[in-house]
Amino acid sequence: MTLFSRPHSATGSPVTSNVMGMTTSASVPTGSEDAIQGSVTDRLVEANGQYADRFTDPGMDARPVLRVAVVACMDARLDLHAALGLELGDCHTIRNAGGVVTDDVIRSLTISQRALGTSSVVLIHHTNCGLESLTEEFRHELEMEVGQRPSWAVEAFRDVEQDVRQSMQRVRTSPFLVHTDDVRGFVFDVKTGLLREIDPA
Ligand SMILES: [Zn+2]
Repeated sequence: MTLFSRPHSATGSPVTSNVMGMTTSASVPTGSEDAIQGSVTDRLVEANGQYADRFTDPGMDARPVLRVAVVACMDARLDLHAALGLELGDCHTIRNAGGVVTDDVIRSLTISQRALGTSSVVLIHHTNCGLESLTEEFRHELEMEVGQRPSWAVEAFRDVEQDVRQSMQRVRTSPFLVHTDDVRGFVFDVKTGLLREIDPA
């Protein structure tokens, strides 16, 4: 739903409008939004047809060539492959709102390492992240609206560096992972395209 709003470019956009936009989307009359979503999906499917026309099976193994898993925010401005010089087949990419190391990210990393041979983890948060403008209050607002509190934490943060450190710590201390030595964390600057490494200490 939020694909079609433009909250990022509106610098003075109040936080609440973002929150409301997300929380009330379910109550928006479905007709118009479905129509827009349908057309976007149609566009994607059409693009896929063209992609498949040019596609030749590279005969790749499912194991990432560079043996690395990248955990990053889902932010639309972050083109991981381009930003990191990655090619098809090089890595696992695991993305969610904030690039937060949740239990489900640990699940994916565990499979990535134990079943598919990765041994390095790269964590990427970024400047101007939407989670900086949310709070855990978001959960209470959801509960008030729908009568049920989500089981998940919002994982909102104020200090992106501290959040990267916490994420690194969660990976390093996970009992399920076999490779926790090469875990590095970065903040991607959406204005310059540059990564800045965060000291884990
Ligand atoms: Zn983000």
